[in-house]
Amino acid sequence: MSSQFTVEKTQHPKTKPDQQNLGFGKHFTDHMFLMNYTAGEGWHDARIVPYAPLSLDPAAMVFHYGQAVFEGLKAYKTEGGRVLLFRPDQNLERLNISNERLSIPQIDEALVLEGIKELVRTDADWIPTAEGTSLYIRPFIIATDAALGVHPSPQYLLIVILSPVGAYYPEGLKPVKINVESEYVRAVRGGTGVAKTAGNYAASLRAQEEAEKQGYAQVLWLDGVEKKYIEEVGSMNVFFKINGEVVTPALNGSILSGVTRRSIIQILQDKEIPVVERRISIEELYEASVNGTLEEAFGTGTAAVISPIGELNWEDKQITINKGEIGQVSQELYDTLTGIQNGKVKDTFGWTFEV
Ligand SMILES: *Cc1c(COP(=O)(O)O)cnc(C)c1O
Repeated sequence: MSSQFTVEKTQHPKTKPDQQNLGFGKHFTDHMFLMNYTAGEGWHDARIVPYAPLSLDPAAMVFHYGQAVFEGLKAYKTEGGRVLLFRPDQNLERLNISNERLSIPQIDEALVLEGIKELVRTDADWIPTAEGTSLYIRPFIIATDAALGVHPSPQYLLIVILSPVGAYYPEGLKPVKINVESEYVRAVRGGTGVAKTAGNYAASLRAQEEAEKQGYAQVLWLDGVEKKYIEEVGSMNVFFKINGEVVTPALNGSILSGVTRRSIIQILQDKEIPVVERRISIEELYEASVNGTLEEAFGTGTAAVISPIGELNWEDKQITINKGEIGQVSQELYDTLTGIQNGKVKDTFGWTFEV
């Protein structure tokens, strides 16, 4: 399949970073995948080239009107040396959902998947193997037409870059403190919450910054209309275990449909732990904490996989969850999902794609 692309190898391979000290998204590999779109011609010139800065016209649409979408997924090297991608088909399907919302042309998912596989093979030596590490894959599309009139761009660039990353929480799964955001909102129904687009992140920074100043790791987002119903935590989906049942907000048109979220729901069903997707208010959550039925809480996303929540601050009320420690179900879900991803747990779901 690699004959669909040209591969230009770098003449100047970089020194690889120390695997014990990778951090997140700080180091990039030797190559990248590129593909252009031109109206009338479609996507063309899929190619792997040495990783390098881009040259773009200052009038390029993406700089002014933010017509941009992205994805995030990971590759793992198993103990036996196999390279596994986790559910890349789901990410590419979602990229097209984001494309549709941002008036960006659809991509050929199978072609881009082959491009990602070829890129990961090209830079396979960069995949770290230390506990908790992986190769983060960042596909994204930007509008490159040099014109300031507001309209969908007739030209785009799709890029895939790779970053060896460390464990998201180097000290292990430590529950974090979260501030319930009562002023700012992340997304509204009819807006762009269902798309993975740069603008959503730009709009979330202020609340995140204020939460950090007050000693919180993230914010818990409420719905954009009534500011009553729970939507997401930071840039993760959110789950609560209440009285033996796991609850996650139902997809409502403003919540991003996470691949980790849907995987966690399936694992819970497989383990026969009750799980429901429904609307849940912050009031209900507070009441559950008061009457002692709020047992666990965690966020889910590709970067951290599972991020346990130890405390929520809602206006003047403090909600402590499981004495600030990781819950049993949260830990079990983390072990199962990361085990499937890195090849230590048998993948009975067919989620891993060998590169
Ligand atoms: C990417 C993202 C998630 C998590 O999605 P995964 O596919 O699980 O990584 C959740 N919420 C938002 C807003 C996101 O951008």
